[in-house]
Amino acid sequence: MTEFATRCVHAGLTPDPSFGSVIPAIHQSSTYVQPAPGEFVGEFDYSRSANPTRAALETALGELEGGLACAFSSGMAAEHAVLTAIGPGHVVIPDDLYGGTYRLVDKVLSRFGVAYDMVDQRDLSALEAVVRDDTALIWVETPTNPTLKVIDLAGVLERKRGALVVVDNTFATPVHQRPLELGADAVVHSTTKYLGGHSDTVGGAAIVRDPALHEKVKFVQNAVGAVPGPFDCFLVHRGLRTLHLRVAAHDANGLAVSGWLQEQAGVSDVRWPGFGGMVSFRHPDAVRIASSTSVFSLAESLGGVESLIEVPQAMTHQSVEGSSAAVPADLVRLSCGIEASVDLIADLAQALEA
Ligand code: PLP
Repeated sequence: MTEFATRCVHAGLTPDPSFGSVIPAIHQSSTYVQPAPGEFVGEFDYSRSANPTRAALETALGELEGGLACAFSSGMAAEHAVLTAIGPGHVVIPDDLYGGTYRLVDKVLSRFGVAYDMVDQRDLSALEAVVRDDTALIWVETPTNPTLKVIDLAGVLERKRGALVVVDNTFATPVHQRPLELGADAVVHSTTKYLGGHSDTVGGAAIVRDPALHEKVKFVQNAVGAVPGPFDCFLVHRGLRTLHLRVAAHDANGLAVSGWLQEQAGVSDVRWPGFGGMVSFRHPDAVRIASSTSVFSLAESLGGVESLIEVPQAMTHQSVEGSSAAVPADLVRLSCGIEASVDLIADLAQALEA
């Protein structure tokens, strides 16, 4: 197998058979002509079931994570497909996680036979205590969103009993963590974030090891129909080609910004997991600071080349208010982009002083 950087550039790309174009065409078609009823020219019949541009992206995602991939119209759609392909039953979720994941489990799936426990997965004995013989699935987010806790995946895997382990790899990306290689059963991504990388598309992916589970996820993908359009697939696939380079730049800026924040008066609890562009900190003036930056845009989302700032309690994590995953009001979350670190620091400095 080639090195990861080479895979990023080449994964899923074979020259177009019609014209030899190095980048295959975007197949913006909903359907495919049939020579006779029930006969197909190739493997495609209708684009909800499969589309060549989506298939190329799915091949690429599978190559980068080391499994079999399905692409979705959002990260939430990918999460829903995995949870429903495996469930219903008892699931264990982290006590710090993307608010939308909590909402999906607590507000939607709980109406369809899903029961759950929440636990701080850094505490492996606490995890062990909530995993039951009938636990269908352990949902891991590492690093967690928004407080950037890093979970010992091997420790979780040792305590899974009969459950499948699903890892939301959105923050770490396959550059830093490939959970399927460690023994996890499934990986999900919001491809909206680092994989797409340019804040110009919303998408998701589910990548699994077991072909039988892949068939189940594919079945939900087709049956529910939350599929990405060809142009969105093209955008994510193009993003993958520079993933390794972008993530290296995010890493450098995460290091520089978190190191600088540690030294600033009024700033506390600076968190950076040791890689990536995600940094969080607490400050009594969180809302004012988030409204005072200019290089960092005040916006939800993360993982794009441009830096973003947000206050999770008022923005991305409203859906966990009142639950044990609630986040403090003075928490600021940064997604450090790939700009020059001096400009990011200067922007934060003027916002802290303002
Ligand atoms: N997982 C994580 C860690 C996220 O941060 C998000 C969105 O912010 C999602 C999943 C959901 O992805 P999407 O917004 O693409 O549906």
